[in-house]
Amino acid sequence: MSVPSLAEGAVLRAAQVGQDASLDELVPGHRLLIIAPHPDDETLGCGMALAAACAKGREVAILLLTDGEGSHPNSREFDRESRVALRQAEFEAALSFLVPERSVPVVRARLPDGRSKARDAAQIIDRLLGDPCIARADAIWSTWAHDPHCDHRTAAILARMLADRTGANLWSFPVWGRFGERPVPENLRVFSDGLHRDAKRLAMQAYASQMTNLIEDDPDGFVMPSALFDHFATHPEIFFHER
Ligand SMILES: [Zn+2]
Repeated sequence: MSVPSLAEGAVLRAAQVGQDASLDELVPGHRLLIIAPHPDDETLGCGMALAAACAKGREVAILLLTDGEGSHPNSREFDRESRVALRQAEFEAALSFLVPERSVPVVRARLPDGRSKARDAAQIIDRLLGDPCIARADAIWSTWAHDPHCDHRTAAILARMLADRTGANLWSFPVWGRFGERPVPENLRVFSDGLHRDAKRLAMQAYASQMTNLIEDDPDGFVMPSALFDHFATHPEIFFHER
């Protein structure tokens, strides 16, 4: 995926006039499952809404599709094992800002970062449905099927399959698909919560491996452009109602 440098595009233009979503709309019921392809998508895409859902007493669980080891594949200083450990620590730190004094159950699917495929969703769905956090969710949020990243698409496919099997309400949140030009669904909603905006910024900062040059020895490594950091830290979150 080539990373855009500016926060602009069709989804963001549509979001400017998007209708507000209430938490009751986003989580009709008590239990929410968030499917994050990488540790950080839960924060970038829906950190404020996640924090708000927990604050309002919803039971929230997160399914991490990959361990996020693929962002700096050529680093020698941080080998694969170190990158997995680093991103796990960052993920836990981010959650401690978003959801202080609450422990959120996390299910790890451990798909290969940057190489997941649609068929992986079919292969793991029965195992995942054995977990009550997943099988009993009233609502599922996942990354958007039109995010230009294979793992984000796999998350969307898996979310659709799970919702079809369980009857859960389904919303998707665009992360990378919000930038650039692509068709925008009509059922766009925006969510903003001033009470949790600072927590989201702190949670984003917890991902130092993604937001800074902490891992310096991989020229192909990902670093969030500063304009996009500011965008994610301040912009309302965007959701599409899928079913
Ligand atoms: Zn991601």
